[in-house]
Amino acid sequence: MNSTFSNHDKANFGLAQKSSQRLAKVAILLLISVFFNRSQAQENRYVFEKGMMGSPFKLVFYAPNDSIANVAAQNAFARIEKLNEILSDYRDGSEINQVSAKSGSGEWISVSDDLYNILAISQDISKKTNGAFDATLGPVVQMWRHATRKGIFPTEIEIKEAMQKTGYSKLKLDPQGKKVFLTQKGMRLDIGGLGKGFAAEEAVKVLKNYGIKSIMMDAGGKIVLTSPPPGTKGWNITISNGSDSLKTMALSNVALATSGPTYRYMEYNGIRYSHIVDPATGIGLLFHVRTTVISPDGTVADALATAFSVAGIEKSKKMLRQFPGSQVWLVEKKDDQVADWNTLEKPQ
Ligand code: AMP
Ligand code: MG
Repeated sequence: MNSTFSNHDKANFGLAQKSSQRLAKVAILLLISVFFNRSQAQENRYVFEKGMMGSPFKLVFYAPNDSIANVAAQNAFARIEKLNEILSDYRDGSEINQVSAKSGSGEWISVSDDLYNILAISQDISKKTNGAFDATLGPVVQMWRHATRKGIFPTEIEIKEAMQKTGYSKLKLDPQGKKVFLTQKGMRLDIGGLGKGFAAEEAVKVLKNYGIKSIMMDAGGKIVLTSPPPGTKGWNITISNGSDSLKTMALSNVALATSGPTYRYMEYNGIRYSHIVDPATGIGLLFHVRTTVISPDGTVADALATAFSVAGIEKSKKMLRQFPGSQVWLVEKKDDQVADWNTLEKPQ
């Protein structure tokens, strides 16, 4: 039997086809959302802690099961360990120390992507902060470490000699060849001011490769956050001004870093000198300062918390304009005078 459709029938058939297609789409969407909700509901919270780079590191994230969580965390920590082998100035054989040992040789030295990348960020921040951040302070930092161990204050001459071997303009980078050049003998690189923020970013990349989306990586006070924990608006992070005042914020997809008085300072004649050195004087910061920076990137947040501590409130206000999306809470205590500058949650 020949069956033909009238135009009307065709239109009806078309409608029937469309509505069954729509039904199928709705069913697929329902399935996806059931699956998505279920996989979200099934996510467990995992916490891993480890002492790394001389500080406690804490990793919190949500994953579907123990085996994914364990492998992902192990690999994230292994990545940090690898970075430490490259970047630690405490290890004689580290790549960074090998490069420093060739300072003044007149040689351009090929370096790993990791070392190149961190130095490139560092140099960019140095330029934008007029040298308040400086990864060539190694000789001065070493001198202070030695002084702290011995309890002997360095002489003016020692400080001057160490200072002569510093200055970020003496560090040259070749982006094409990924090479570095330390123009003066005795120079020593020290990326302690941004290394933990960099490590936190790299660890987060490893976790993301396992499909993990909600992550908090706290690398000794330098924190990188990704998507909020399932069903929440963000990671509840409490920021302090160092004494009484606290602020809790629900944050996600952002990084924050705090620099401040830790156990790492030198006390001499009743005066405390911070482990953060003022590149203009070669001396540890004298005043109590605590700085928290929120930035889109962990390495930048870490470097800025150090740089703004050096620069102080007034200069940092001008510098901040060069870092869109960054916010600061800086508290200075000089001669019992407390100054507080806080841009958190205010639009830039
Ligand atoms: P942070 O805790 O991030 O402020 O880093 C402090 C560490 O950065 C010190 O222990 C030094 O290794 C290094 N450092 C000290 N002063 C400076 C500075 N002005 N610029 C860059 N790095 C610094
Ligand atoms: Mg820092």
